Amino acid sequence: MNNPIHILLIEDDKSVSTYTSTTLTNSGYKVTAAFTGKEGLSLTASLCPDVLLLDLGLPDLDGLEVIQQIRSWHSCTDVPIIVISARTAEEEKVKALEMGADDYITKPFGNAELIARIRTSLRHRHPRTQGQIYRAKDLEIDFDKRRICLSGREIHLTQIEYQLLTLLAENSGRVLTYHYLIQTIWGPYADSNNQILRVNMANIRRKIEKNPAQPRYVFTEIGIGYRMLESESS
Ligand code: CA
Repeated sequence: MNNPIHILLIEDDKSVSTYTSTTLTNSGYKVTAAFTGKEGLSLTASLCPDVLLLDLGLPDLDGLEVIQQIRSWHSCTDVPIIVISARTAEEEKVKALEMGADDYITKPFGNAELIARIRTSLRHRHPRTQGQIYRAKDLEIDFDKRRICLSGREIHLTQIEYQLLTLLAENSGRVLTYHYLIQTIWGPYADSNNQILRVNMANIRRKIEKNPAQPRYVFTEIGIGYRMLESESS
């Protein structure tokens, strides 16, 4: 490729950095590594990378502070940020997403998962165009016709269920936090208690999942939110 996608990796752990850089370079990406938060900020400003991979536990700055600073700049404000986080740090992941990170990946992560996250984050920089359809396995959502079909049969959702499912489908492959979903669907003054969201999600799953206990389309990320299976149509 003449103009490869440029990824800035901000990670202080040398072995994770080397391994990730090698993986991404072998997959055709151009990678620049930064080992501290300050170095990451200055390289973001000077290089304007296409994607940021950001470890939250850095020696000098908190990764959350790095997100906050980048999101406050006028240039490169829309660069996708994927946070690299430890397995048990749910609260930290939620904070990062709410501060403007696009997604997260949990250590240790596989190559395929990493590349899928990068592709998804790049895809979401370009908003949905008219006539687009969500399609994965047996589920199809035609956004223009407002029609949802499962194995060719039309599914009927309430207005709220429809809004919730299409919001997840428009962001398919990405995690959306409970807080974000509640604010977007029910407005900024909605009760932040997740009960109303859980009830609606259970109703959606009853309608679109063969076995709601083992969902194929909408996955729960415990303590964080929901992620919908990535659409197969681009
Ligand atoms: Ca670290």
